[in-house]
Amino acid sequence: MKIAVLGAGVSGLTAANRLQQKGCEVVVYEKNETPGGLARSRFTDGLLYDPHGGHILNSKHPEVMEFVFSILPKENWQYTVRNAKIYFNGRYISYPFELSLCELDTEDAVDCVYDFILAKEREEPDNFRDWLVWNFGEGIAKRYMIPYNEKIWAYPLEDMETQWMQGKMPLPEKKEMIRSMLLKDPSERKMPHSTFYYPLRGGIQTMSNALAAPLTIRYGTPVQRIERKEKGWAVNGEEKFDKVISTIPLPVLPGVMELPPSVCDSISKLRYNSLNTVLFECPKTDITWLYIPSHAYRSHRVGYQSTLTPYGGPREGRSCGALEIIGERIEDPAALSQRSDILPEALGFTKALDSEFTEYAYVIHDKKYRKSVTEITAYFAQDDSFSLLGRWGTWNYKNMDLCMLDAMKLTEEMKL
Ligand SMILES: Cc1cc2nc3c(=O)[nH]c(=O)nc-3n(C[C@H](O)[C@H](O)[C@H](O)COP(=O)(O)OP(=O)(O)OC[C@H]3O[C@@H](n4cnc5c(N)ncnc54)[C@H](O)[C@@H]3O)c2cc1C
Repeated sequence: MKIAVLGAGVSGLTAANRLQQKGCEVVVYEKNETPGGLARSRFTDGLLYDPHGGHILNSKHPEVMEFVFSILPKENWQYTVRNAKIYFNGRYISYPFELSLCELDTEDAVDCVYDFILAKEREEPDNFRDWLVWNFGEGIAKRYMIPYNEKIWAYPLEDMETQWMQGKMPLPEKKEMIRSMLLKDPSERKMPHSTFYYPLRGGIQTMSNALAAPLTIRYGTPVQRIERKEKGWAVNGEEKFDKVISTIPLPVLPGVMELPPSVCDSISKLRYNSLNTVLFECPKTDITWLYIPSHAYRSHRVGYQSTLTPYGGPREGRSCGALEIIGERIEDPAALSQRSDILPEALGFTKALDSEFTEYAYVIHDKKYRKSVTEITAYFAQDDSFSLLGRWGTWNYKNMDLCMLDAMKLTEEMKL
């Protein structure tokens, strides 16, 4: 059986590997010149840089980790304990905020705990802004949850639904929360996703390269035409395939294939945001991520690449990180280091060494999301020779491990 996989991100690469292992002939189409999609890395001035945001791996699904280590053996990975912080009122508070209240000033902490005790008393709201107050209480919501989420989504929180973050956002039990107030040592607090893997050398690109190595990939080949044939599909008017798996963003499809107007209409209602990252060298730090909720600064997060692996490249006594800003493409990223509204001065952002714009960064789960995705999925489900997969192929907030899991499930269930 001959199968086309559209997109050489983690989803497409995983599906292609599994199908090839089952004896299928697989061709991957990728518009870029390198594999990985969002999971990519490069070195600039010797400094490691994941241009689409630092990509670490962890999974509660053992079959995913088993697959990953079969592709890139475990000794090639650095195992790290997360050391995330929040820059709050000029101080570094441990992450997650809601479990680190003992590190706040007493009055802030009392407000947060008092409001948390009163939380969840009324009916659960269906919009994200009210849900944050309902779930965490006003004290935590207004100091951290609301401003941080306003920055990372750049979308009205009251127009977002709430189902998407079940299992994604740490939801402390009241008792756990109060316990955390009494624990001065952050390492004793229960934290989700507190450890992770990252390739020792070469960044997350090393994993993407290992996934790509055994495959036939047509690089620099954007999908421009997908046609239904009497038997199977033709891609770009050339090769014929029995089946197609598409991981490219759904909004690309109406431009490359025939779709009913109702499906095009549902696709046009999908919302997403875009990301700018900027690499910089900075004073030495052992922080993995720094979250910046304050609206005084445009950047919402810095990922410190040099903490993910000892081979990140900075000079002795220095570190490197990439700041993240949501929104339109920034035309002159080099000028950002001159501005005081990008990052707190203490972080030492004095020079932009590299930058990248990512058009498709985060799926926005607005109020129209569920209906649109259900309609699109139902249409494609009618034909088992064309499957949707991946973060943008299925329009779902999924990390790499869940993309891999979906690819493994899909290729297991496919009639070959
Ligand atoms: C800022 C940020 C940080 C993240 N951090 C983490 C993390 O730490 N850990 C984690 O597990 N996950 C993380 N994620 C999520 C992770 O990036 C995704 O889950 C995963 O990479 C998605 O893989 P994918 O293959 O589905 O999509 P993509 O990586 O987007 O792959 C799609 C591929 O299709 C190609 N393509 C698009 N259009 C065409 C076309 N017309 N023709 C041919 N090819 C095309 C693209 O070039 C791309 O290679 C992060 C995401 C973001 C935005």
